[in-house]
Amino acid sequence: MTKNSIHNLEAISSQVRRDIVRMVHACQSGHPGGSLGCTEYLVALFFEAMERHQEFNLDGIGEDLFFLSNGHISPVFYSVLARAGYFDPAELATFRQIDSRLQGHPTTHEGLPGVRVASGSLGQGLSVAIGAAQTKKLNRDNSLVYVLMGDGELQEGQVWEAATYAPHNKMDNIIAAVDYNGAQIDGATEQVLSLGNLRAKWEAFGWDVMEVEQGNDMASVIQGLDDAISRTGKGKPVMILLHTEMGSGVDFMMGSHKWHGIAPNDEQLASALAQNAETLGDY
Ligand SMILES: [Mg+2]
Repeated sequence: MTKNSIHNLEAISSQVRRDIVRMVHACQSGHPGGSLGCTEYLVALFFEAMERHQEFNLDGIGEDLFFLSNGHISPVFYSVLARAGYFDPAELATFRQIDSRLQGHPTTHEGLPGVRVASGSLGQGLSVAIGAAQTKKLNRDNSLVYVLMGDGELQEGQVWEAATYAPHNKMDNIIAAVDYNGAQIDGATEQVLSLGNLRAKWEAFGWDVMEVEQGNDMASVIQGLDDAISRTGKGKPVMILLHTEMGSGVDFMMGSHKWHGIAPNDEQLASALAQNAETLGDY
């Protein structure tokens, strides 16, 4: 992939991190931790990996699709959609306001370009993505379907029904990813409800599993996506175990689940912004 240099993608990520903390600070609610952890992945998808139409169309025929299953990380999703050109970044200022198109969890009802499914009720995104991927197969549409889930989200039973269905039906046009940060709202996934050997589990279900060990390193993420794309079309759905750190890029948010869903105060915002350069212009 050569559309953007790693340096450019890192610069975009820096701006996205500013957007995330500013959005959450402005309304004093939202989910910065997972948003910051998934910044490189979403930037890499929308600015590099995905073949997508610039004009948003809910049908998504002939282009790669992305479904955000862990909808609570909407700040990173909205920022990346805006910076990718789906809508004016100025609208990020309306995050979580009454009648805004940028609700706390994404919905299609508001008609925000880039949002293909309501999400936030955890566990459903993989099923939706499989439906879209199967539709593409029926339509002889060779583009790909991406879906991102949280690791805590894998405690939802519906995920494993979908995990069973996709390999049986040879859904080799889907690239799923798990934000494998080892943390969820109430603490470490290992303590809340252990996921066990996640790689072995997905492999046992029939998936082609790969890992990105440095999910907050842009070069590693790009390399991982290149690898994932090369594995499609070979009879198996592809799973990326994406190792990230919750709160990545903001030192005082890293290493704790505490910042899963709370907002920074004024002083904390200033510190977070000082750590992430303004590269594309604040909204
Ligand atoms: Mg997690």
